[in-house]
Amino acid sequence: MNPLEDLLRAGLRRWELTLTDAQIDALVGYSAHLLDANARMNLTAVTDPSDFARRHLLDSLCPPALRSIPEGAAIIDVGTGAGFPGIPLAIARPDLRVTLVDARRKKIEFVGEAIAALRITNAEALWGRAEDLAHDPCHRETYDAALARALAALPVLSEYLLPFVRAGGAMLAWKGAAAEVELEAARSAISVLGGGCASALPYAISDEFCRLRIIVIDKIRETPPQYPRPAGKIAKKPLPLPN
Ligand code: SAH
Repeated sequence: MNPLEDLLRAGLRRWELTLTDAQIDALVGYSAHLLDANARMNLTAVTDPSDFARRHLLDSLCPPALRSIPEGAAIIDVGTGAGFPGIPLAIARPDLRVTLVDARRKKIEFVGEAIAALRITNAEALWGRAEDLAHDPCHRETYDAALARALAALPVLSEYLLPFVRAGGAMLAWKGAAAEVELEAARSAISVLGGGCASALPYAISDEFCRLRIIVIDKIRETPPQYPRPAGKIAKKPLPLPN
């Protein structure tokens, strides 16, 4: 037993989430791999074992996210960084097919190597930018769910994520206590991009990491072909565009 594994098991128990010992081993193994590599390159600022268990592993596996991703879904984690939330989800949900994307080559190479080393067979790492990949027919509107944590404010994030999602699927965004305010600011962007009903689902990991939200936005219509706009424009002029 180590503190990271203890906290992980306690957190999963609190959420009544049952994983096999092999799945726990894979989560702990991935963490060890990451912390080891982190000594050579900057992958995460979260290195304390208990923080790591809470902020990386448990946050990735929070109940509203797990509940919102349907059985057998193909999902894309955009801006995965060192693999969050996509890697814990791939380990906890072998029914999923998980594509992990990051614009930074060094990070996505680490993720690809770790997937191979730990024999995680339902995940693949892909180097690229959301704005480019979302125009590639191999990826556009092909996923049941697109997700991201700590990538961008919701109007920008919607433009990154909704183009990946097929009509009938959903995008999921990991957010904090300001989620509802962000959601209001993103309403018209969501509608322009083919999004429909949106909700902010609350969860807490501990007393310290609380008032967290998963924003789920249903995709109801095809995204107009001009979105996402080219790199740079999205962040400078988030939707809605001025008249
Ligand atoms: N999701 C991870 C990492 C968040 S940091 C976590 O929660 O821990 C944001 C990551 O998004 C960085 O690794 C950065 O390289 C990547 N990123 C930023 N803009 C991007 C874009 N347009 N397309 C793909 N990845 C992007």
